[in-house]
Amino acid sequence: MRAAVITRYNEPWEFQDLSDPRPQAGQVLVRIHASGMCGTDLHVHHGMFPLQPPVVAGHEPAGEIVELGAGVIHLKVGDRVGVHWNQKGCGRCAECQSGHEGGCAQAQSWMNLGGGNSELMLAWASGCTLLPDGLDYALAAPVFCAGYTVMSGLRNADPRPGERVAILGLGGLGHLALQYAHALGLTTFALTGQAGKRDELRRMGADEVLVAGADPGKALAAAGGADVILSTTNSARQVASALQGLRPRGRLVNMGVTTDGPIAVDVMSLTLGQRQLRGSSQDERADLYEALQLVASGKVKPAVESYPLGEANAVRERLAAGKVRYRAVLLHR
Ligand SMILES: [Zn+2]
Ligand SMILES: [Zn+2]
Repeated sequence: MRAAVITRYNEPWEFQDLSDPRPQAGQVLVRIHASGMCGTDLHVHHGMFPLQPPVVAGHEPAGEIVELGAGVIHLKVGDRVGVHWNQKGCGRCAECQSGHEGGCAQAQSWMNLGGGNSELMLAWASGCTLLPDGLDYALAAPVFCAGYTVMSGLRNADPRPGERVAILGLGGLGHLALQYAHALGLTTFALTGQAGKRDELRRMGADEVLVAGADPGKALAAAGGADVILSTTNSARQVASALQGLRPRGRLVNMGVTTDGPIAVDVMSLTLGQRQLRGSSQDERADLYEALQLVASGKVKPAVESYPLGEANAVRERLAAGKVRYRAVLLHR
């Protein structure tokens, strides 16, 4: 199988022909059709994960099952599936027993079995989710990290009918968060630094686009504030600012991996206003299911740039330069 292999960190990925893997008990072999590229893949590229090369990245894989390992009974050869990050827990710890396998210290992911930047990929059967009929592989792939993450964030914010939801950071995750919030009938505010995105964000479902620059909280407060802020920015300073735009009893849900130090919080504003700052990542499987259904129904449209797998290095550089228009997907066939 042909694969994009990280042989050394911070070096171009190498295209190699690896021997085809065989699924062990409880696993399946997936022929990958599309593999989304995520900001986290840049961290993988830079060696920020405890992995010894060679490494095949790719945690937004979508494809077709071609072989079943022993004991796999609920999946069939020919099933169209995607695979999310944490595929299987130990099954025995408190996290697993309470239905939160993703929090298991021994959870198995693409880091254990290899990722989707390869013609074939092993996955635990428990980590496979069926794609809704008719859903294109290239549109499905980004749901397995970006879509799942933001749908969990939205659900964890517990939005009520009529509430105002602001999205901070409108890239691969944020443009989906905006569309999911709109699809649920919530009033949406897009907080962007780029005035040129205004029309596009309106078409994606923003009721109001606030061109905010360095102080999104000020712009949001001036617009009346938000009950929920879904933050996907990697800037802790932007998150701290955005908190100033949160209404009393509002919730800011952070999903971004901030890289510029801790988030400064006005504790008294939090306390007296009964505001919440919480983190969120891929949570209930129902969130992934719901995220897929909304894309399959056409209510949410991932904005995807597609490239052949052989262009993985150029795509990675494009992503690092901030040039990808929302989400890049590598196509395998
Ligand atoms: Zn990701
Ligand atoms: Zn466990």
